[in-house]
Amino acid sequence: MTRTTPELAHPSPFLIYFLSGHGTFPSYLQRFKFLDSSHCTCGMLGDADHYIYSCPLTKEFHLIKPADEQKKEWFNNLLTNIQVVTKMEGAFRTSRGICDTLTQERDYN
Ligand SMILES: [Zn+2]
Repeated sequence: MTRTTPELAHPSPFLIYFLSGHGTFPSYLQRFKFLDSSHCTCGMLGDADHYIYSCPLTKEFHLIKPADEQKKEWFNNLLTNIQVVTKMEGAFRTSRGICDTLTQERDYN
C-alpha cells in the first residue's frame, strides 16, 4: 500500500495564494476592479510577496526571502513545512483585513 503525504495531497489554500498570487491582495483585487489601487495601506505594492516578505503590517509573519540558488529547494520545502504555512496564513489573513479596509474606504468615497 502506498502512503500519501497529506500536505502534498491537500496543499493549504494559503500556500496556493502565495504560489499563484491569486488571493486577497490589493494587486490582485485591483485587476478585477474591486479596488482602485494595487497599493497596500502602507504605501507599497500589495502583492503576495509584499505580505510574506516586507509589509510592516505583517512583520510578525515574515519569511526570509531565499537566495536565487536556494529557491528550488525552498519551494520544495514549503509543501511540507507547517510552520511556514502557518506564517503565510497569518500574513494573508492580515492582507484580507487590509483589503476589507480598502474596500470600505472606497465605498464611502
Ligand atoms: Zn503593506
